[in-house]
Amino acid sequence: MKKLKIFGIIALLILLIAGALVLIYYKTPTKTFALPEVRLDGMSSKPQEGCWHTELFFGKVVRDTPLQGEPSKNLGTLDIRKPQLSAPSGGEFRFKLFGPNPGVPVPAAEGDLAAYEAYEFTHNGNYVLEIDLRYPKTEDSDAAEFSYTFEFALEVKPTIEFSSDRARQGDVLSVYVERGFETEAPTIETPLANPLFLKTGERTYMAMVPVDYTQAPDVYEINVGIGDTHKSCRVIVTPTKFSEQHMIISQSTVDSTMNFPGATKDWVDKIKDKWPLQDDTKYWSGQFMWPVDGSRITTEFGLFRYTNDNPNPTRHKGIDIGVPSGTPIAATNAGKVIYAGDVIITGKSVIIEHGSGLKSYYFHLSELGCAEGDMVEKGEIIGLVGSTGYSTGAHLHFEMRIEDKAIDPMPLLDGTSEIYRFEEMD
Ligand SMILES: [Zn+2]
Repeated sequence: MKKLKIFGIIALLILLIAGALVLIYYKTPTKTFALPEVRLDGMSSKPQEGCWHTELFFGKVVRDTPLQGEPSKNLGTLDIRKPQLSAPSGGEFRFKLFGPNPGVPVPAAEGDLAAYEAYEFTHNGNYVLEIDLRYPKTEDSDAAEFSYTFEFALEVKPTIEFSSDRARQGDVLSVYVERGFETEAPTIETPLANPLFLKTGERTYMAMVPVDYTQAPDVYEINVGIGDTHKSCRVIVTPTKFSEQHMIISQSTVDSTMNFPGATKDWVDKIKDKWPLQDDTKYWSGQFMWPVDGSRITTEFGLFRYTNDNPNPTRHKGIDIGVPSGTPIAATNAGKVIYAGDVIITGKSVIIEHGSGLKSYYFHLSELGCAEGDMVEKGEIIGLVGSTGYSTGAHLHFEMRIEDKAIDPMPLLDGTSEIYRFEEMD
């Protein structure tokens, strides 16, 4: 009888303890915090799934409380190279990216937030981004884990832009390409010239299209392609009004230069044969500077010159700048010296290649200050002004060409040229 009583008490105690344990298990509140939100390309999302882990009985038991989450987020089609991701701090961040074909179960990338930031998308297509955030237990809150799912499609196209659809004789147009996910360089075709695309950044290219000063006014097409993206521009070329000049030059100067035996061949070998050369590097940057003080232009660009009463004019392919003999000449921009030497007609001469066939020419120097093959910076002294060759007095003949097309240097020097249009977009 006594035994039974003790047994009864023990049973009751066990029942009470069990009841207390059950009560603690179910009634201990979950210590939560505001559900963390993850943002992808501006779309904010609360967790799709989650769970609080409440430690009970000194950590011997963990009670899981699942979370009723939101539906997954679909961002639709994006025309950006990468959706920007931001996640709250404090948790351990992991992502898995599936795509561009979500049927393939292998993630395209995975890792922490830094890994996502470093990841570069390279293809268009459908993507699924899964994110896990884990929070450890703290004094104020229970451990927790949350997961998020974003779906999106990337549809990135290369960008092709033309600086203008109008040009005067002697102008330069420019074309800008951002390659998107294409890996090949863009191509360009036009009857105006043989332009070459220069790489200006990780994803950007530029091409210069010269309109020769003698180009017949008309409409000309420029066709640009990259991958499956093609774009055309119809350029209206309008006439430039060029002035006239009547000049007397002494017969002895003519005889020792223009009429000197072999003078033309000498000029062709040293100057004209350089016209078509094109380096595929963009050496120049920023605005082209005056090689000497430009306040006294004695002969304008493109002008019709009647020499010694000859009824057939020649054309002036550059500008003449009147400055005293011995004036230092600065390289108009960075580039490579592709010629520095004596030419019967143009005297001591320097040619600088600035990239893609854009060159500056400096004639009639008294002294050369650079050598063929030199890389020069903008403003570097390359020689001194003189009056060598076919010249009537001290001046700098300054000429700019792209390939064989003579272009007006003035817009390049005053910053209005279309070649500067996309300079900031590199
Ligand atoms: Zn000249």
